[in-house]
Amino acid sequence: MIDFAIDDATREQLAQTREWGRTAMRPAGLEADRSAAPLPALHPYFAKFVERGGGRTRWAGPAGRARAEKPRSVVASLLVVEELAYWDRGVMVADPGPGLPEGNVLALGSEEQKERFLGPFLELDRPRWACFAMTEPGAGSDAAAIATSARRDGDGWILGGAKCFIGGASRADWILVQATLDVRSGRAAQRAFFVERGTPGLGGFKIEKKMGLRAYESTSFTLADCRVPAANLLGGESRGEQRADYATAMRTFNAGRPIIAANAVGMGRAALDEAIAFAREHELLHRERVRDRLEAMARKLLMARLVCLRAGWLADRERPNITEASMAKALAAGVAQEATTLGMELIGATGARGDHLIEKLYRDVKAMDIVEGTGQVQRVIIARNLVGLPR
Ligand SMILES: Cc1cc2nc3c(=O)[nH]c(=O)nc-3n(C[C@H](O)[C@H](O)[C@H](O)COP(=O)(O)OP(=O)(O)OC[C@H]3O[C@@H](n4cnc5c(N)ncnc54)[C@H](O)[C@@H]3O)c2cc1C
Repeated sequence: MIDFAIDDATREQLAQTREWGRTAMRPAGLEADRSAAPLPALHPYFAKFVERGGGRTRWAGPAGRARAEKPRSVVASLLVVEELAYWDRGVMVADPGPGLPEGNVLALGSEEQKERFLGPFLELDRPRWACFAMTEPGAGSDAAAIATSARRDGDGWILGGAKCFIGGASRADWILVQATLDVRSGRAAQRAFFVERGTPGLGGFKIEKKMGLRAYESTSFTLADCRVPAANLLGGESRGEQRADYATAMRTFNAGRPIIAANAVGMGRAALDEAIAFAREHELLHRERVRDRLEAMARKLLMARLVCLRAGWLADRERPNITEASMAKALAAGVAQEATTLGMELIGATGARGDHLIEKLYRDVKAMDIVEGTGQVQRVIIARNLVGLPR
C-alpha cells in the first residue's frame, strides 16, 4: 500500500518553509531577476539563511554528533523542495551548502576527505558553497563524452579542460570536477577530483547570461595545467572499482530527478495560483471555459505530484526507481511549462509587460526540462527500460 503520510515535524517544517519562502525567498528571487544578475555572495539573504541553520552538511562529523536538520524521508524532502520552488527555484539553488556533490562525497569519499571538504560545512562561520562540474561545451546529455583530462604527475594530478553551466562555480570553496584518464575509454576512465578555490590553473570564470533562474550563477571555467594533490582524487588512489566515479555521478542525477520534478510541480502550482488570483480579481471566474482550463491544470499538477512522490516512496524503501524518477521528471517539467503558459495566456497583456511574477515563472520553468537529463533523454531512458534494453 502506498502511503504518502507525513509526520508532525515535517508538517511544521513545511509551514516554516512556506513562511521563509514568502518573506525571504520570493523577494530575493524577484530582486535578482529584475537586476538580471545572481544574488552576490555577500547578499544579506545568504547570511540570514545561514543564521537560521541552513547550508549545513548531512555528514554527521568525525564524532558523529553534528547533523543538520533534514527531512525524515525522501517523500518528505520532495514536499519540502516543492514548497521551496513554489517561492523561488533560483534562490533555492543559490542557497549556500555542500549541494550536489555532497552525495558523491558521502558515498565515495575517504574519512579524511569528508573531514577536509564537508567538515567546514558542519558549523558555518559564513555562507559556503561547493559544486559539481560535469557538463562541458562538448558533453551535455552524453556525460560519458567528457574530455576534461586528468594526468598523473609525481605525487599529484594535472587537470586540463573546460566546464560550462556549473551552478555556483565562482563562489564555491571547492568544485568536484569530473575528468577522464583516457578520453577514448568512455565512462570507465572517469574520475572525480576536488579542485579548491584559488588552485593555480583554475580560472576563466564567466557567469552565463540566463533567460530564467537568475538568482544563482551558472558559470563556465577552465582548468589549465591545474595541479591537485593525490589526496584530492575522490575515494583515494587505492579504490579499485573501475566505474565507481561515473556510476556515482549518475546516481547523483538519478536521485536528483524526483527533486527537479518536485521543483517543477511547485513552480506549476505557483503559476496556477497566479492565474486563479488574476481571474478572480478580473471577474473571469464566471466563464466556464476559464474554470475548465484551471481545473485541467490542477488535475495535471496533482498527477505529476503523485508520480513524483511515488518515485520518492520507492527510494525510501530502497527499491529501484529509475523509470519512475525519469517519468516524474518528464511529466512534471512538461506540466509545469503548461501551467506557466496558461498563466501567461490568462493574465495576458498584464503578464507580458515583464514585471509580473507569471512572466518570470514562464522563463524560470524551462530549465526544469533541461537540467539533470533533458525531457527527451528521460523519455529515452523510460523507453529503453520498458523494452528491456541496457541503459
Ligand atoms: C540552468 C542550467 C543549470 C545547469 N547546471 C548545471 C550544473 O550545475 N552542473 C552541470 O554539470 N551541468 C549543469 N547544466 C547543464 C545541463 O546538465 C545540460 O545543459 C544538459 O545535460 C543538456 O546538455 P546540452 O545543453 O549540452 O544539450 P545536448 O546534450 O547537446 O542536447 C541537445 C538536444 O538534443 C537532445 N538529445 C541529446 N541526446 C539525445 C538522445 N540520446 N536521444 C534523444 N535526444 C537527445 C536533447 O534532449 C536536447 O534537446 C545546467 C544547465 C542549465 C540550463
